[in-house]
Order: sequence, then structure tokens, then C-alpha cells
Amino acid sequence: MDIARLWRQQPSNIRLLGSRCRSCGVLTFPERVRCAECCSSELQAYQFKGDGELLVATTVYEAPRGFVDQVPYVAGLVRLVEGPIVAAMITDIEPDKVAVGMRVEMVTRRICSSGADDPIVYGYKFRPVAHHD
Ligand SMILES: [Zn+2]
Repeated sequence: MDIARLWRQQPSNIRLLGSRCRSCGVLTFPERVRCAECCSSELQAYQFKGDGELLVATTVYEAPRGFVDQVPYVAGLVRLVEGPIVAAMITDIEPDKVAVGMRVEMVTRRICSSGADDPIVYGYKFRPVAHHD
């Protein structure tokens, strides 16, 4: 599984916007036009809180164009407390300190820039939650 590629295919959004099915209540991320569970097209936008748990993590040493200044970085899969799984970069932690199962929260950070003349892209990343119950 190429987590870094999966993440780049997600819409670069600074908010975690997904969908909630009006018919069966299932939550999905990213947004969909049809419910994966019951096939209903009666979906509404749903804003996730951004709290979750790190399921999988991998350190990326060879970055694609636009990410070169950030290597090494950690790409991971986060299970949100609401259920859906999000691919994202893990930030504010040394790669060798990252542990599967740790609590994380969403933050907005610089994601990439492809050159001096291009705008910097911001988006969501996840960072460890320092203290929890
Ligand atoms: Zn449904």
C-alpha cells in the first residue's frame, strides 16, 4: 500500500469535509456522491472534528516534486473518532518517535510548493496529542 500516493489523491482541503448519509447515517471521507453502504444519493456535507488514532505509518525519504524540502516525512493512515480512515502526513514529531496507536489531532500546515513562483499549498496534517486521559 502506497500511503503517500493515496494521500496525494485526496482533495487537498484544509478542512476534513466528508459526507453523512441521510438514509443510513454512515459517515465517509472524503466527500462522496453516493453512500458506500446503502447506495443512497441523499448525502449531506459532514465536518469531522479531526481527532483520531494512528493506524499505519511509513517514513518517506524520496519525495515527489514539491515535497522535496520536507523529507524525511511521515505519511500515515488515521482512523477518525467518527470512523472513517484518512491518509495524511504526520507532523510535529521525529519520524523515529512515531508509534502506531498514538492519539493524533488535525492541524493546518504547509503541504507543498512546486517552485518559487507557485503558491504554497496548505492542508491538513495530524500531530500527536500531547496529553490525554
Ligand atoms: Zn447510506
